[in-house]
Amino acid sequence: MKDTAPTLSSVIPAGRKFTGTDRRAPLRGGLHGCGEYGAGQTAGRFYPIACVALEVTQRCNLDCTLCYLSDRAEMTYDPPLSVLFARLATIHSHYGPGVSVQLTGGDPTLRKVEDLEALCREIRSLNMRSCLMTNGIRASRAFLTRLAAAGLDDVAFHVDMTQERNGFNSEAELNVVRRAYIRHTRGLGLRVLFNTTVFGGNFDELPALAQFMRDCPEVSFVSFQMQADTGRGMLRERPDAITQDSVMAAVEAGYETPLHFDTAAVGHAKCNRYASVVTAGGRAVSLLSAKRLTHKVIAALSKVDQSADGHIDTRDSVWRMVRRNPLLALRAGLHLLGCVMRLGQGLLQGPVRRQSVFIHNFMAADALEEDRCASCVFMVATANGPLSMCVHNAQRDMHLAAPDRVDGPTGPSWWNAAVPRLSGGPDLPDLNDPSLAPLKRLKGQMRAMRRNQKDAS
Ligand code: SF4
Repeated sequence: MKDTAPTLSSVIPAGRKFTGTDRRAPLRGGLHGCGEYGAGQTAGRFYPIACVALEVTQRCNLDCTLCYLSDRAEMTYDPPLSVLFARLATIHSHYGPGVSVQLTGGDPTLRKVEDLEALCREIRSLNMRSCLMTNGIRASRAFLTRLAAAGLDDVAFHVDMTQERNGFNSEAELNVVRRAYIRHTRGLGLRVLFNTTVFGGNFDELPALAQFMRDCPEVSFVSFQMQADTGRGMLRERPDAITQDSVMAAVEAGYETPLHFDTAAVGHAKCNRYASVVTAGGRAVSLLSAKRLTHKVIAALSKVDQSADGHIDTRDSVWRMVRRNPLLALRAGLHLLGCVMRLGQGLLQGPVRRQSVFIHNFMAADALEEDRCASCVFMVATANGPLSMCVHNAQRDMHLAAPDRVDGPTGPSWWNAAVPRLSGGPDLPDLNDPSLAPLKRLKGQMRAMRRNQKDAS
């Protein structure tokens, strides 16, 4: 196996069990360490991690031009449920109740629906949240109805032009797909999220796409993920025109209002930018315009927060803050009311909704920054515990090949992505060599290379 995976000596999987006393301390320490734990920081203050990805397969039914999976991904086996359950226990050990677990891949809908139902039930039984991360192609209403009944909380649809869907030539044309996916969720009680990769091929359309999202009251969370040179995709380096500032400006142009991305922080500022708005009838108003007031509320909430170990119990903490700081609570309440009133005509044309707007700045595999990886808020579950998503993407094959131990009634068993089922010993084969794989098992740049070789021969 290629041993060129970049390593960051200080950023390694966090282990299969949390051994500390304060689950928020590792992230808080990482952010403190790089000067990112300011008055607006929510990570490490109210929660130990933003979310953890549980990769249930490496297979996908698309071949996006930007893809964080590796060349070997399609030649691996799906982890057995017992391995995934063991990883859920590790996630719970590190982050406790309330953490958001992303069922992802590849595309998780390529797993049997019964497997996903079992995972949703297990996540619910551990008081964690589940989010299905999918391109939506197989996420029919019937499929989502079954998962919702099994305890699924959120569904995040990834729809954009990197997917090269037949018959769609622009992000605007893809809105018909987005609307159809929203219809699939109607009445199921699921929180709906949309992820968009921002790359050279759709950057000009970003304001219009942001406006489309603003005007979808069903959508609670809108995430824009900036192109990164990692994985197997055909597209590599990010164009210079795409920066955090240019993406923030384009999104604000779409929402037609300032979004105050510098008020509240979710991890390192070079990693993530966050905004929160109320919307109604084609209007949006930022809830984070009063920076000093927001920081006072953050400070007051962290003082009364009784759940210092895992995720904050927001309802309980807000109620305690109201009782302890009635004047501050009144000011905050009046600010929120003012925001709603500023929706003006929009109030007559549509329901009032709150929407989170997120810009995620993934790092290139060969340009990992230690301080960012050490204060990462997005983890991936590996055989040896949670690891920063950027680091995992850069070292993916190394972690897919690592033997994962599952303790059963008759003793331990082991698994890695090179084998279809559990084995009696940790001595497992390496991942297959993609250069030996048939064309149909290749994706991204390797597929293109193989095709060119075939055409040239
Ligand atoms: S995944 Fe990467 S960009 Fe995102 S928070 Fe972690 S280190 Fe930062």
